[in-house]
Amino acid sequence: MSHGLERMVEDAKLAKLIEDAKRHVMTEDERRERSIAESISRSQQEDEAKYNAWYLGDYIETGCENCGRQRVCRCPNGKHRCEKCNWVPEDQAYAPVSNH
Ligand SMILES: [Zn+2]
Repeated sequence: MSHGLERMVEDAKLAKLIEDAKRHVMTEDERRERSIAESISRSQQEDEAKYNAWYLGDYIETGCENCGRQRVCRCPNGKHRCEKCNWVPEDQAYAPVSNH
């Protein structure tokens, strides 16, 4: 084998290694993209679940202890939330979602 041919074979091996490496990097990127997309859709689902849990249901007769208005609603999560000021008497805090 001449020196030149040997060199060409080495270059070809190197090129193949580089190709393999590129393919591997692409796969990693794709995996990362997919996992980002999955975590976005997961957080959207969590948001949706949170909104559903804090959905403003029927008004109760007791007025809001925070703003005094008769706009306290029963939420599916068993707590109450003031439609006007978002106060949750059970938590003594404002609800983690905004009115919508
Ligand atoms: Zn209120």
